[in-house]
Amino acid sequence: MLRSDCHLHSCYSTDSETPPALQAEAAYKAGLKEICFTDHCDPGFPGGEFRLDFDACFHAVSALQETWGNKLKIRAGLELGLRPEPAFRAEILEASEKEPFSFIIGSTHLVDGADTYLPEAWEGKDARAIVRRYYEQTLENIRLFDCFDSYGHLDYISRTIPDFTGYVYRFEDYADIVDEILKELIARGKALECNTAGYRYAMKQPNPGEVILRRYRELGGELLTTGSDAHCPGHVARGFEEAYALLRRCGFRYIAVFDNRRPLLRPIDD
Ligand SMILES: [Zn+2]
Ligand SMILES: [Zn+2]
Repeated sequence: MLRSDCHLHSCYSTDSETPPALQAEAAYKAGLKEICFTDHCDPGFPGGEFRLDFDACFHAVSALQETWGNKLKIRAGLELGLRPEPAFRAEILEASEKEPFSFIIGSTHLVDGADTYLPEAWEGKDARAIVRRYYEQTLENIRLFDCFDSYGHLDYISRTIPDFTGYVYRFEDYADIVDEILKELIARGKALECNTAGYRYAMKQPNPGEVILRRYRELGGELLTTGSDAHCPGHVARGFEEAYALLRRCGFRYIAVFDNRRPLLRPIDD
């Protein structure tokens, strides 16, 4: 049974043109019971992209909840880009407090300020060193910021490595630091996100993948949120069936949904 898609974008994000109403409709048709919009705010993003009109976004989502009433629970959240450089810390904290968000995903989208989604970020560089740096900055972000609830797409960088680097991502190269990251999340009571957008890429698994999800569970991690990271209606709840089966195999029994920044646990199986 499909439950909650807690990572949805709409036209309030730089990289989406979809009105929130169309995402809600797609969610309802997919059989979801609750959704959370998490439009991007990424302080200090190169080119000034991913700025958010907090007020307009928050009110549009709140109005949508009124329209849908009991048929679909709709919450307003945020995907907050985290980066450890001191120059951006105040802006990141302020962003988290702009509106009474129900849920905040903390994500690392940049490595030393560079957008690894762009091939240029990898040219002439040691790919393994960039990936390690990504995890180092992720760990730093978790230690620096308390203003998020779930960590977004933890091994996201693995899907941005261009073929020309000749490097094939291997989890084993980073097992040590990923362990530190997972322990830090658990110790701080933060959730880990299972982001199903990964199924749309060559690796055909969520972010993070099975090895990390298993390790999180082994270490005692229980709080897990699920999100499709859909930027268009066709991607809402995509990959959820496979993800739920995987999460069951990894030993998870509950999916967390955040309301007023507090986790509510929903059983995977009714
Ligand atoms: Zn993201
Ligand atoms: Zn996203």
